[in-house]
Amino acid sequence: MSFASLGLALPLLRAIEEEKYELPTPIQQEAIPVGLEGRDLVGSAQTGTGKTAAFLLPILQRLDGTKGRSFRALVLVPTRELAEQVLTNSRAYGRYTSVQSVAVYGGVGMEPQTRALGNGTDIVIATPGRFLDHMRRGHVNPSDLEVLVLDEADRMLDMGFAPDVNRILESLPKERQTLFFSATISGDVDRLARRALNDHAAVEIGHRTATADGVEHIVIAVDKSQKLAALSNMLGELPAARTLVFTRTKFGTDKVARYIRREGIEAVSMHGGKTQQARNKALDRFKSGAVAIMVATDVAARGIDVDDIVMVVNFDVPNDSEIYVHRVGRTARAGAHGMAVTLLSPDEWLMMRDIEKFIDRSFTRETLPGFEPDVMPQQPWEIVAPPKTNKRNVTQRHGRARRR
Ligand code: AMP
Repeated sequence: MSFASLGLALPLLRAIEEEKYELPTPIQQEAIPVGLEGRDLVGSAQTGTGKTAAFLLPILQRLDGTKGRSFRALVLVPTRELAEQVLTNSRAYGRYTSVQSVAVYGGVGMEPQTRALGNGTDIVIATPGRFLDHMRRGHVNPSDLEVLVLDEADRMLDMGFAPDVNRILESLPKERQTLFFSATISGDVDRLARRALNDHAAVEIGHRTATADGVEHIVIAVDKSQKLAALSNMLGELPAARTLVFTRTKFGTDKVARYIRREGIEAVSMHGGKTQQARNKALDRFKSGAVAIMVATDVAARGIDVDDIVMVVNFDVPNDSEIYVHRVGRTARAGAHGMAVTLLSPDEWLMMRDIEKFIDRSFTRETLPGFEPDVMPQQPWEIVAPPKTNKRNVTQRHGRARRR
């Protein structure tokens, strides 16, 4: 199935061609026709599935060619990084249309955003708190709004944006199209979807616990006290390729980055405690390839759209299974091959078991030579093959991931 057969107009097809997208991803195949018809949509798609184009392309087509600018589409996102990313995509996909986009988010001055809004725009991409601020000050008037997108709705709720999102929903015209995306559809997300959606011609895409097919999951059992050394040993052995290392806390992020740097491995770190300037600088270095490894917290890593992440490392096992799905979604994007390595210490065995139940798969516990733990997890993994030493294997698999 081609992009043209989905009903997209020439200006968009030309831009897509320049992006070198050959075929629509599954979510694009399903969501673009629904979006073009003006129907509501609930998409349970994780990041990396091409969902941004899936909602932006129909919006750009709908808004193209109208005279003058009026604010007609709002995209709400959880983080400033994701806002910037959606803005970049909107400008790229819309480069042959008349549609203008502006992004507004917290953590930076209001004034440039106020001016940009004052100059007129068709699409506003925003984090909820800052959008509400601008709306209350009269910088933006949603009375002509036709399309609302809630992107990564689960993350917006996790980050405490529910009251802001509800206030925004109350201020928007009821007659509108709503496109709702979330990696996971749990109780709260479902309630928000019901409130936000008008007509229930909603389409559900993907499975909420799905991780991309191209991901190879590797679980390495290691003692807690050996994790830093094991990580740096593993990274040191591997050819430098884009790697995202996740830690649960800001403190952990800095600690890991410091440790591996001391071991001679270049890495940048990213967490919410850093200034926007420091975050941008770290992201630029990672994106440009100047540094291959980024250590980040989950929140900071949201919305970082970096292609070719070969490996995701869970330095800490996430205490929420859905977060595992999010993290792993950072690699193997758009059908590529990737690896997800989890360093598993005994205090995390049960969390890993919950994750495996959640994604309905189970993984062999492996070990790194020189870092074999004092105790190996037994139940309930005795059904799987006995642990084997696999340093070379990890390296080889990593090489394979890079070549694809
Ligand atoms: P998203 O899930 O929207 O964050 O997109 C993930 C990545 O896939 C981004 O880097 C997009 O540029 C890329 N992408 C989106 N659609 C396609 C496509 N049809 N073919 C190839 N790459 C795509």
